[in-house]
Amino acid sequence: MAGRCHVVLIGPQGSGKGTQAARIAPRLGLVHVATGDLFRQLMTRDDELAREVRSYYDRGVLVPDDVTLRVLLQRLDELERETSDSFRGALLDGYPRNRAQAEALDEVLRDRGDEIAAVVHLVVPRAVLIERLSGRLICPQCGATYHVRFSPPKTPGRCDHCGSALVQRSDDTPEAIARRLETYEQQTEPLLEYYRARGLVVDIDGNQPIEVVTEAIYAALEPHVGDPV
Ligand code: ADP
Ligand code: ADP
Ligand code: ZN
Repeated sequence: MAGRCHVVLIGPQGSGKGTQAARIAPRLGLVHVATGDLFRQLMTRDDELAREVRSYYDRGVLVPDDVTLRVLLQRLDELERETSDSFRGALLDGYPRNRAQAEALDEVLRDRGDEIAAVVHLVVPRAVLIERLSGRLICPQCGATYHVRFSPPKTPGRCDHCGSALVQRSDDTPEAIARRLETYEQQTEPLLEYYRARGLVVDIDGNQPIEVVTEAIYAALEPHVGDPV
């Protein structure tokens, strides 16, 4: 079996990674893998690991690299097992977030014979990010993302896909938002240079309507990833 081709999405909190990944992944035959979603799912359990993750998550602090890598690998292995031949690659949303994670990812992909096809960088001004994050609503059941004004559900407070009651994320508080954006600037943004040196980065203006951003990403990725077979 030939190696798989993964795409990495990098952008600050609120830049639209989750929103765009959900729209782009099916079109390119990729699976949306978001470490934040994996953690939110994990935290619905009542065990030691769930409590440990929550202690970082709610403060807006990165979960330790070893725990994060383990959770990511578990998901990739699960996809290999469950979808085997139809799994062409992952659209990674929220991983890697620091240099150690980027190096760990390179190593893991090398071992698997996989590669990174492209890194999509979503560019959005800070004032817009804060406005987006303070109105964000998510579906605790299926992970769909909404915004009270910019992307409202058809029925107020209800998920379009599964009908569940929408909630605000426990870390979308002003303090946790500020801390996460600072961590992004200090630890995640420098990764762009790491990937730029390998010619992998495509910069996308994320401060446009959702549909326009989707088309821009699709146009940039299509030559790298191609159409699903
Ligand atoms: P990220 O995953 O990068 O943190 P999200 O996809 O969760 O970002 O988007 C953050 C918030 O902004 C959500 O409430 C979403 O509905 C809204 N949003 C996403 N993209 C846009 C856009 N292009 N224009 C306006 N609002 C957007
Ligand atoms: P955001 O991008 O708004 O921070 P995510 O849903 O991607 O939202 O992540 C939420 C939280 O999950 C983070 O604040 C962090 O605690 C944890 N997390 C997600 N991805 C990672 C990662 N790659 N490394 C460490 N912690 C992570
Ligand atoms: Zn839902």
